[in-house]
Amino acid sequence: MAYVITDNCIKDGLCADACPVDCIHPRTDETGFEAATQVYVNPAECIDCGVCVPACTSDAIFPLDEVPADKQQFIAVNEAYFG
Ligand code: SF4
Ligand code: SF4
Repeated sequence: MAYVITDNCIKDGLCADACPVDCIHPRTDETGFEAATQVYVNPAECIDCGVCVPACTSDAIFPLDEVPADKQQFIAVNEAYFG
C-alpha cells in the first residue's frame, strides 16, 4: 500500500519535511518544483507510516484504500511522477 496525494495540495512542502523516508517529491528545493501542480508520494518507497497526514493542512493526503471516489485518478498520477 502507499499514501496518495491529491489535487487539494497547495505545495507548502510540510508533508515532505515530515516524511521519515523522503518519498514525497518534488521537494521545494528540487528541480521541477515550480512546474509541478502538486507533490507526489513514491509508492515504491512509502512505508505507510501516516505521518504526512496530520502534517497536511489541506486534507490532500489519503491512505490508498481511503482515496475518495472523485480522487481515484491520483493513485496513478502519484505513481506516474516517479515513472
Ligand atoms: S505515509 Fe509515511 S512514508 Fe508514506 S508518504 Fe506519508 S510520511 Fe512518507
Ligand atoms: S502538506 Fe499537504 S498541501 Fe502541503 S505539500 Fe504536502 S500534500 Fe501538499
